[in-house]
Amino acid sequence: MSSVAENHHPKTAVDRTDAPSKLRNFVDGRFIDGGQPFEIRNPATGRVHAVAYEADRAIVDQAVAAAREALNGDWGRMTLAKRRAVLTAVADRIEERFDEFLEAEVADTGKPLSIARHLDIPRGAANFRVFSDTIANLPTESFEMDTPDGGKALNYAVRKPLGVIGVIAPWNLPLLLMTWKVAPAMACGNAVIVKPSEETPSTTTLLGEVMTEVGVPDGAYNVVHGFGPNSAGEFLTSHQGVRAITFTGETRTGAEIMKSAAPTVKALSFELGGKSPAIVFADADLEVAIATLARAAFVNTGQVCLAPERMYVERPVFDNFVAGLKAKAEAMKLGLPHDEGVDLGPLISEEHRGKVLEYYGLALEEGADLVTGGGVPKLSGDAANGYFVEPTIWTGLAHDSPVCREEIFGPCCAIMPFDTEEEVIALANDTKYGLCSSVWTQNLSRAHRVGQAMEVGLSWVNSWFLRDLRTPFGGSKMSGIGREGGEHSINFYSEPSNVCIKL
Ligand code: NAD
Repeated sequence: MSSVAENHHPKTAVDRTDAPSKLRNFVDGRFIDGGQPFEIRNPATGRVHAVAYEADRAIVDQAVAAAREALNGDWGRMTLAKRRAVLTAVADRIEERFDEFLEAEVADTGKPLSIARHLDIPRGAANFRVFSDTIANLPTESFEMDTPDGGKALNYAVRKPLGVIGVIAPWNLPLLLMTWKVAPAMACGNAVIVKPSEETPSTTTLLGEVMTEVGVPDGAYNVVHGFGPNSAGEFLTSHQGVRAITFTGETRTGAEIMKSAAPTVKALSFELGGKSPAIVFADADLEVAIATLARAAFVNTGQVCLAPERMYVERPVFDNFVAGLKAKAEAMKLGLPHDEGVDLGPLISEEHRGKVLEYYGLALEEGADLVTGGGVPKLSGDAANGYFVEPTIWTGLAHDSPVCREEIFGPCCAIMPFDTEEEVIALANDTKYGLCSSVWTQNLSRAHRVGQAMEVGLSWVNSWFLRDLRTPFGGSKMSGIGREGGEHSINFYSEPSNVCIKL
């Protein structure tokens, strides 16, 4: 296979001179030629920093064939102990090449170095460790039964991989969300074909090198680049040889994937969009609530599926809460990933900034009071051409305004007052989404009551984003299908096959 140095030259956001990195498709343990080139821009500067090659149907076919071969060959025959050892070695190698992953992620996303350093890359490595452990610690079920002839039979279930799994990933936390699916799928013995987001293909490509370096057999991990419809995404979701699709992205993309996967009856696991509520009662520790919810709303420039774009605050503390959140938003420093003390980077693309700014305009048309932000910041130097927007807070919006009902995926939130527990539970749940919620109160009974009443997959109390990777993760309603995390992931990426023995 081609070497790392040949194929990947991660650059810093201020690098202007080097030629763009070439990100080729990774099939059967090799970077292969072919495919139409498309440009990858660093959103912090607007400059092209890499070129990826869009996989056509023939390349996707090649990847599926390689994956099948791996299942019938060295990968399929590997003992569980050895499979666990190589997945742990993947984690070790990500850590050894930490800075390369860091620079690649930052070049694709423009996010502050500190976030990628403390969240994206460490969690990318952690996912391989967690699922290598989880797979080792699951019991199989067994039932002894009476038979009609007065004898006995023993049933036991063997856990088998599904086969070839298509992993379709978004751009907001590229390595973290991709490995969250690749690690359990491979721990179960499946072969994977990853289609990273067309905006952020670098770390997924780099992981191909790591797989080969640590001895993952050829074809067990493949990468195809490209887009959704009539491109690598759809070629995967409609492919007869792919048994399951695991997808993170927008709800409407999930609906398209369901249609495309239906004729070949694939298993689906979906982590989709959200419009998550935060609820702050008057008895909450306001200082901690404000600090946590400011981070929740604005970190990663609001491009987090779990971000609370709707905040409901009990009327007696409403003004104090709004003032506190405003102060936090206004203290945030926007800038280039490598700038000292930078809190917020750009949005992912010019197109996405256009969408977010449309909502900024709509909020004012809908009669919002603009507490802070609402526009494009004036930045100088390289950042002047980046896709930045100001962190933004509104009050005075009606509950049924599209700004309060549709996912914006930017650094913004609407804050609304409420008077009673019943009222706020109804408001919080009045949405087609059901990803997560964050409830703030010191009252123990109310914490349980309201926390459990939320129609969501993840209900936080006096916290947000705290994740134990063994616990179920996923969305209710139109925020997803299924749960992943710990044993829940293993249950999706494998299927029990019953063996019945007449004794
Ligand atoms: P997206 O749906 O636009 O794209 C996600 C991936 O799907 C990309 O790789 C894209 O190329 C591919 N794709 C698009 N159309 C396709 C098609 N027809 N067939 C096959 N593949 C297709 O999402 P995005 O903009 O990259 O990510 C942001 C969205 O992801 C937000 O809605 C966010 O809430 C959601 N998200 C959810 C979670 C979660 O855990 N629930 C986590 C992160 C992001």
